[in-house]
Amino acid sequence: MSEKIILTGDRPTGRLHIGHYVGSLKRRVELQNAGEFDKIFIMIADAQALTDNADNPEKVRQNIIEVALDYLAVGLDPEKSTIFIQSQIPELCELSFYYMNLVTVARLQRNPTVKSEIQARNFEASIPVGFFTYPISQAADITAFKATTVPVGEDQEPMLEQAKEIVRKFNSIYGEALVEPKILLPENKACLRLPGIDGNAKMSKSLDNCIYLAEEPEEIQKKIMSMYTDPNHIRVQDPGTIEGNTVFTYLDAFGRTDHFERFLPDYSSLEELKEHYKRGGLGDVKVKKFLNKIMQEELEPIRNRRKEYQKNISYVYEILKKGSEAAEKVAAQTLADVKSAMRINYFEDESLIAGQQEKYCE
Ligand code: ATP
Ligand code: MG
Repeated sequence: MSEKIILTGDRPTGRLHIGHYVGSLKRRVELQNAGEFDKIFIMIADAQALTDNADNPEKVRQNIIEVALDYLAVGLDPEKSTIFIQSQIPELCELSFYYMNLVTVARLQRNPTVKSEIQARNFEASIPVGFFTYPISQAADITAFKATTVPVGEDQEPMLEQAKEIVRKFNSIYGEALVEPKILLPENKACLRLPGIDGNAKMSKSLDNCIYLAEEPEEIQKKIMSMYTDPNHIRVQDPGTIEGNTVFTYLDAFGRTDHFERFLPDYSSLEELKEHYKRGGLGDVKVKKFLNKIMQEELEPIRNRRKEYQKNISYVYEILKKGSEAAEKVAAQTLADVKSAMRINYFEDESLIAGQQEKYCE
């Protein structure tokens, strides 16, 4: 049986939020603790973050520790998962450079996630080459660790497609050196792409519409009470709409039956609550207060664990250093396999030297 390996990660462009949590982090922790995977690699993608933050390296530098603290806070365990920093693994750049020959410009231009990110960043004609090609570098990250499983949110689907194409092309030209990865999306539909508190399609650090994992209770409550709902649901007795109503999407993502028993015993299920809202007679404030109780309960232990780690920052850097050293060893082995498959391993190939000698012996 071949090994089961996870690789996934986040850009250090800000603290992690509840979209990351339901889209990827929660699953990682579950998979880590289930113990079915042979290896788990969690990458802080600073080199990728620099592709659209080249003029702001300090932002990336400051956020490495924020992401690391969020990881530890949600329960990633450095004894079970290798947590590392992308830029500390130079092998990833080398792999990217060779993969670039296997991808066309037209193929990169078709990537819908990159397209919408270019729009959101107002890059227009001034797209940095590094940003444009980040799906290739992501393929390098995934394949360097021979990852079989990549647990991510829905926006990463095009990246996984690109990675698979590169693997197939590489293996067909040079021989089977790389492993094809599989995406692992959240099972709960509301978690595929959690919307922002402003109703925007995606909660995103870059859009400033997030509830952060480290947020204090008052701030969580303030944000929830200000959340986007149904703009036409003005009076309590008005019928309301569920679709596109962020509060209900969050209830889909975070709600459980036991929450009703404890926090809102007048209802027995989310279906019943939704029906009442649609009929009219249920105010936004009541639903928001319910969501607030759920979120407070979910985020409290995360925030408390983070505070413990915050007391020992040098220990957290030590985890990252050790993780990066371990990760580099793995990536170096893959790079050696790749170079030998590509026939650029001149000094390791004695038959090459002997063969060249023979050419001149006749
Ligand atoms: P940036 O705006 O800097 O790109 P981001 O908030 O999009 O930041 P990333 O670091 O790009 O975060 O994404 C990290 C992981 O979290 C990916 O697996 C991504 O799919 C997932 N993710 C990000 N935002 C959401 C969301 N709103 N819902 C579900 N998953 C998400
Ligand atoms: Mg992103």
